[in-house]
Amino acid sequence: MTASVATTMDHLLTPAAAEHHARLCELVGDSWRGDAAAWDRAGRLPAEVLRWCAEQGLLGAPLPAEAGGGGWNMVRTGLLYEALGRVGASLASLVNVHGMAAQTIARWGSEEQHRTVLPDLATGRRIAAIAMTEPGAGSDLAGMTTTLDARDGGLVLNGTKVFITFGGQADVFLVFAYADGGDVACLVNRNTPGLTIEPMGDVLGLRAACLARLEFRGCRVDPAALVGRPGFGLAVLAPHALEHGRHAAAWMAAGMLHEVFAATARHALARHAFGRALIDHGQIQSIVTRMGTDLEAARHLCLAASEALDARDPAAGDRVLAAKYFACRVLADHAEAGVQVLASSGVLESSVTARTYRDAKVLNIIEGTTQVLERMLAPRLAASVGRDA
Ligand SMILES: Cc1cc2nc3c(=O)[nH]c(=O)nc-3n(C[C@H](O)[C@H](O)[C@H](O)COP(=O)(O)OP(=O)(O)OC[C@H]3O[C@@H](n4cnc5c(N)ncnc54)[C@H](O)[C@@H]3O)c2cc1C
Repeated sequence: MTASVATTMDHLLTPAAAEHHARLCELVGDSWRGDAAAWDRAGRLPAEVLRWCAEQGLLGAPLPAEAGGGGWNMVRTGLLYEALGRVGASLASLVNVHGMAAQTIARWGSEEQHRTVLPDLATGRRIAAIAMTEPGAGSDLAGMTTTLDARDGGLVLNGTKVFITFGGQADVFLVFAYADGGDVACLVNRNTPGLTIEPMGDVLGLRAACLARLEFRGCRVDPAALVGRPGFGLAVLAPHALEHGRHAAAWMAAGMLHEVFAATARHALARHAFGRALIDHGQIQSIVTRMGTDLEAARHLCLAASEALDARDPAAGDRVLAAKYFACRVLADHAEAGVQVLASSGVLESSVTARTYRDAKVLNIIEGTTQVLERMLAPRLAASVGRDA
């Protein structure tokens, strides 16, 4: 393996996909590289960044062209998340949560929602966020207590959602709740009377993701704002949204790991200790080798997941799970190792290693924790061996 294998992924891509990726890295990198530390300190992305994402068509990239989106396939969309991940996890998360909500509406929304809601999401005129988690229900969403009750010919929403990424900046929320006919998801506008939005304060990672707590107290919801049918919320809509979220998280982790690898390798080459460059010390060689090969493996898994989604392969769901699980896990391991190699300079709050160390922890909690993904993957992996025997 040559160093170029770890620093580029062109050898995995078709020439057209490689060119698309290079263009995205240049576009996002030229505009925002080096700004993530300031965003983290501010606790939000500047409005100008949200506008820029919309103007560049990044918020609607995978949405259908008829709705004003880019119509990108999953390989091209994944490469977008890789490019965004290189610049910052909060930026990538903005595009991700917006995409999770928008793609769920694109797949399961009504004709009216396709006409009235989707175009604004595809063009980024409005930002969407996704509200599943509650104080008493995270991994086990069936434990949620938010209700959508029929009252006076309409629907009324009551409940609390927490840790909502970009909840502080989004215009519309896809909210999961229990209704009379079963679990549902509905669209709730930010300015709905009875909705209170509070910042969630300091967090370990995704510091610029403007996390918020949403309190719904007697919010009136138009029945036309229901997405899909009652009974679809947890069984169909949440898994659909989460699959997109996991695909995005896997690729953004690959982009973040690319940055950690670059910083670690550069430091190992430049820094000398005990008469030689760090890269000439065996223990550092182990770290760099594991990091570079895991980076390469993560990209393979990400690409396999994207290609399976594009091919509508029945195994696509498993491939997405495997890519998310592996890419986020190795990112956390190697972000920790990167801090170790950069040592004192690696712990500076503004360094890519310190920021990724914090963000990587969060990536192993969102879109399915490590343990939840293992619960899903282990029986499937084991059964596949059983079937092949
Ligand atoms: C920065 C950040 C952003 C987020 N953004 C959003 C968002 O935009 N929208 C949203 O709805 N939510 C969001 N979340 C919430 C996130 O999805 C949840 O934190 C996640 O689902 C885990 O839920 P929990 O924190 O309640 O932990 P719990 O579900 O209570 O889990 C606690 C621990 O138990 C483990 N565990 C749980 N079940 C099992 C099991 N069956 N077997 C073994 N171990 C298990 C978990 O892995 C974890 O280690 C965000 C969270 C963070 C930190």
